[in-house]
Amino acid sequence: MDLTFASLSEISEAVTAKKLSAKEVATHFQQRVQALDPKLNAFAALNPDVIKEADAIDARIAKGENVGVLAGVPFGIKDMLCTKGLATTAGSKILSGFIPPYDATVVSRLKKAGVVIMGKLNQDEFAMGSSNETSFFGPVKNPWDLERVPGGSSGGSAAAQAARLVPGTIGTDTGGSIRQPASFCGIVGVKPTYGRVSRYGIIAFASSLDQAGPMVSTVKDAALTLEVISGHDPMDSTSSQKQVPAWSKNLSSDIKGMKIGVIKEYLSGGLEADTQKTFDEALATVKKMGAEIVEISVAGTEFAIPVYYLVATSEASSNLARYDGVRFGYRAEFPRLSGVELEEFYGKTRGEGFGAEVKRRIMLGTYCLSSGYYDAYYNKAGQVRRLLTEQFIDAFKKCDAILSPVTAAPAFKLGELVHDPMTMYLNDIFTTSTNLAGLPGMSVPFGLSQSGLPIGVQVTGAHFEEQKMLNVAYALESVSSVKGKNPHVI
Ligand code: GLN
Repeated sequence: MDLTFASLSEISEAVTAKKLSAKEVATHFQQRVQALDPKLNAFAALNPDVIKEADAIDARIAKGENVGVLAGVPFGIKDMLCTKGLATTAGSKILSGFIPPYDATVVSRLKKAGVVIMGKLNQDEFAMGSSNETSFFGPVKNPWDLERVPGGSSGGSAAAQAARLVPGTIGTDTGGSIRQPASFCGIVGVKPTYGRVSRYGIIAFASSLDQAGPMVSTVKDAALTLEVISGHDPMDSTSSQKQVPAWSKNLSSDIKGMKIGVIKEYLSGGLEADTQKTFDEALATVKKMGAEIVEISVAGTEFAIPVYYLVATSEASSNLARYDGVRFGYRAEFPRLSGVELEEFYGKTRGEGFGAEVKRRIMLGTYCLSSGYYDAYYNKAGQVRRLLTEQFIDAFKKCDAILSPVTAAPAFKLGELVHDPMTMYLNDIFTTSTNLAGLPGMSVPFGLSQSGLPIGVQVTGAHFEEQKMLNVAYALESVSSVKGKNPHVI
């Protein structure tokens, strides 16, 4: 077995059967991180106890314990998720020095399944961005082309996975942050149905949109990881009671007779040529495999970007009010605190602790929520969001899954859009509606651009219909031109 490229279950089966120790696995990937991460900047923090944790897994196996389906598999975790005893900053200076006293439910479930935490992955500050350039830790590089962005906000997860610094990673997706970087880096990224995965211990950006999910190398690995992290959690009142199906055991690339929806409103052109070609080929492929293509209308998608940027910024302005310099992380320096007015204390701390993009969002969101504008912006956005959701529910009466592009073009160059927030926001054109409607969506690598950059296609499912979505992706993966190709950095 070539450990670098092994699947999650290959690793855990070998560790469980004592053909390989968890320590050997952890050491192998630790060496990869040491050798390659200086080029990528994918990690925000490394777990100093990774070998100790691997030893503990080996000790349990030696005692005959059944460790779990991810026994001894190292994972990287986006810095949005709290990890007990391990620095968690959401890519922000304002959380520098914050060591969570508990694990996010996603993390505790991974650990319970035998995962060893390699470290925390770089990201856009508070997950606000599409290029990983707003991080306090500096930008992440795309392993396919070091001059390009890995996408964002889960850029560290995508880059670390694509370069196989770890066998698996976790990202979060509020408006596309799992799917867009997965597409830019040629990996599989799944945003589950809202409520499928507990948000407990995940640093809140926009609570009604946020979901965590797997960013891994194959659809099968994604299905397996999703099984581990999904399911009801009493600590998150929005988490669903629904049973978690055995997705990984029911994967099938037989999509004959399935109805695949294509959103009419997305067909107006504007895609970069290689992206258009990839999408057309994906459609032709599912058709050849016996699926039926049906055109559907989801007129509300036209408003997805403005609605998203009203809802997400409003929720963010409220969520980020907690960073006051008293309870967590960073506090501005004052020669002496006595005599300092509270407003000055907050103002200086928040002024120094947040980056420009986060400040922009807080101001936008505060404006949307201010009395006098609340009805015109926040309330109106909520109404359009409801309409959009209903249109999707109607559309799924006519199809089993929807196929669309993930972005309009492959990975752009570092620095290209960072000073143009509006164009950066438009990057989310195909991804935000999925979050607004609470649907599951994923990116599966499918095409390569002329210059050799990976291009994903997006599969969206109906609420809690992850299996159908995964199966369509599994079918596409079986003939993907990215399969077997590796980024230059490897
Ligand atoms: N790019 C989007 C934004 O900047 C999405 C972010 C996300 O999904 N976390 O808000």
